[in-house]
Amino acid sequence: MSAMYEKLAMPASGLRLHLNENTGGCSKAVLEALRGITSEDAALYPDYTEATAALAGRLGVPGSHVLLTNGLDEGIFAAALTTLRGGAPAEPFEAIVIAPGFDMFPGSSRRAGGRVVPVPLEADFAFPLEGVLAAITERTRIVFVTTPHNPTGLTVPRDAILRIAQENRGLLVFVDEAYIDFGGDTLVDTRVLDAHPNLVVGRTLSKAYGLAAIRAGALVATPDTLGPLRDSVPPYSINIAAVRAIPAALQDTAHHSWYLAEVRESKRLMYAALERLGIQYWPSDANFVFARFGDRAPEVTAGLHARGIYVRDRSSDPACAGCVRITTGVVAHTQACLAAIEEVLCGAR
Ligand code: PMP
Repeated sequence: MSAMYEKLAMPASGLRLHLNENTGGCSKAVLEALRGITSEDAALYPDYTEATAALAGRLGVPGSHVLLTNGLDEGIFAAALTTLRGGAPAEPFEAIVIAPGFDMFPGSSRRAGGRVVPVPLEADFAFPLEGVLAAITERTRIVFVTTPHNPTGLTVPRDAILRIAQENRGLLVFVDEAYIDFGGDTLVDTRVLDAHPNLVVGRTLSKAYGLAAIRAGALVATPDTLGPLRDSVPPYSINIAAVRAIPAALQDTAHHSWYLAEVRESKRLMYAALERLGIQYWPSDANFVFARFGDRAPEVTAGLHARGIYVRDRSSDPACAGCVRITTGVVAHTQACLAAIEEVLCGAR
């Protein structure tokens, strides 16, 4: 892949269930906060103190442990740049990524001059701890882990991540927790981070808080670990919209809880329908479900597309033949998607 990231088609209308976006929209409190931006605010370089404190407070860590980024994507790129640049052309530094996984990890690692070492998931998409440990060489500088994993939705055991960090103090273990609000075990805990200075956790407000277009993410680690990462992020990469949106989104706990409940119910409905249809799926800790439609996957994807519903066929990923990833957000959207799947698979009624 030459680009850092494959930007998928963005249909202006229809049901976008292919990018794990928040299908419920952000809190109204966010819109209110955005409306409060004055012309003077827009003219000044923004101050990050309040937004950083709000996120740190929510995460239960000191503000010094949080670096705001322009979406988690920027945090991933900053981590790749910090750890991988400067290797000899013949012997570049190495980044370990899990395959299948999120495109940004190999994309930004290559852009930073590193060599990508993919480690395949084990049978049934289990996390390949032994494979990761065996792939580490003296040139490895960073290991990218996602929990819950994208595209499978499976949680990576905390102990496995900590073992990689403990046994390899010389490299950075980057834990992408983009979907952690929906389930799984977070590593954001001051004691854990302080005991593992080579651990950095990535967070985003794109998913559970619906701020994907605002671009609001963060890296969480000890101040010393964040130092070089901070140096790889432009000083004003977070704009005033994100600065105002972050505290407003975090304060509206009712909206957040509502969306988490919608996702939980959507997954329950999705599992029940897939079981009825005899389709294999993996119980997910994220806001999407990964299911194996086998050789009917192209028909399902195309049939949904024809009905204005977009899902992500991951068949070309390693060991994912016939697998489709479907966002499970607002219950009414999931119901529409499930009705369309049944229509495609069982014929119109
Ligand atoms: N990490 C993972 C694992 C993701 O799936 C995504 C979004 N697809 C991101 C990070 C990007 O987050 P952000 O919108 O904050 O850049």
